[in-house]
Amino acid sequence: HDYDLLVVGSANADLVIGVDRRPGAGETVLGSDLAVHPGGKGANQAVAAARLGARTALLARVGDDDYGRLLLDSQAKAGVDTVGVLVGGAPTGVALITVDPSGDNSIVVSQGANARLTPEDVRAAASLLAAARVVSLQLEIPLETVAEVVRAAGAGFGGRPGPRVVLNPSPTAPLPTDVLAACDPLVVNEHEARFLLSDAPVGSSDDPEEWADALLSRGPRSVVVTLGAEGALVADGDRTVLVPSPAVTAVDTTGAGDAFTGALAWRLGVGDDLPTAVRFAVRVGAAAVTRAGAQASFPSTEEVAAL
Ligand code: ATP
Repeated sequence: HDYDLLVVGSANADLVIGVDRRPGAGETVLGSDLAVHPGGKGANQAVAAARLGARTALLARVGDDDYGRLLLDSQAKAGVDTVGVLVGGAPTGVALITVDPSGDNSIVVSQGANARLTPEDVRAAASLLAAARVVSLQLEIPLETVAEVVRAAGAGFGGRPGPRVVLNPSPTAPLPTDVLAACDPLVVNEHEARFLLSDAPVGSSDDPEEWADALLSRGPRSVVVTLGAEGALVADGDRTVLVPSPAVTAVDTTGAGDAFTGALAWRLGVGDDLPTAVRFAVRVGAAAVTRAGAQASFPSTEEVAAL
């Protein structure tokens, strides 16, 4: 295998403006200078893993524009192989983010090129999938594209098994049974767990262990529930264990979930068992909340060790 991890997902430019208060309908407010950052869950996870030393590739689509070049540059600087990043077809995805003084965000996403990453693109990238030990997915690209990755991973390549599938179902959407069944693990935060369980009484329970067990009964091979400062729950069918997060002073939690999942997927790719991989990933998530920004906050292995 050439890659510990292939991330298939989104790449966005985050356009951030600080405001005193968010505008109402028909209103204009003045804000801070514009800050432009590389983002998107797929791009974030790939950078998080590569910064830790993972052999990482990204399959994504960006526009033939300055934001697309910003994303390609940030991936390359982190050490991600960008051979799978397709260019053109629509403008690069953009997130327009206003942040008020309390830190609350209002976000409008233009999916742009992310919505044009097709099942056909996945089939054309079969060699990348075949070269990866783990593939990590989120839902900022079309669900049919995610489903094609799952299908290809399950079918394997020339008699060799395909990559292990890690999925963070964000933004939330109902998941097809075959996609759910492939997840090893399904990685959810509290909001995503409650969404997936909203058709059952357990969805309104306040016990994350109950969510983890209920989610596991829906078909995934394993489940990880992230719990912010509390750490993460791991359910692998044998047992459900809480892995606490190191105590840190949180500065900005943006991207913590992506740092966690990128790190987790990498450690699984190099052979850690799930609880061991989660014990590493909570440290990466914790390190990421000690600094501002998303990709800018992702730690190196040395910084994780120093926690
Ligand atoms: P986000 O949407 O902010 O990127 P998320 O809601 O997807 O994150 P969280 O559960 O908030 O996911 O965070 C993921 C991981 O990051 C946690 O499991 C934990 O390891 C770490 N983490 C997040 N917040 C904190 C915190 N305040 N202190 C320590 N660790 C944290």
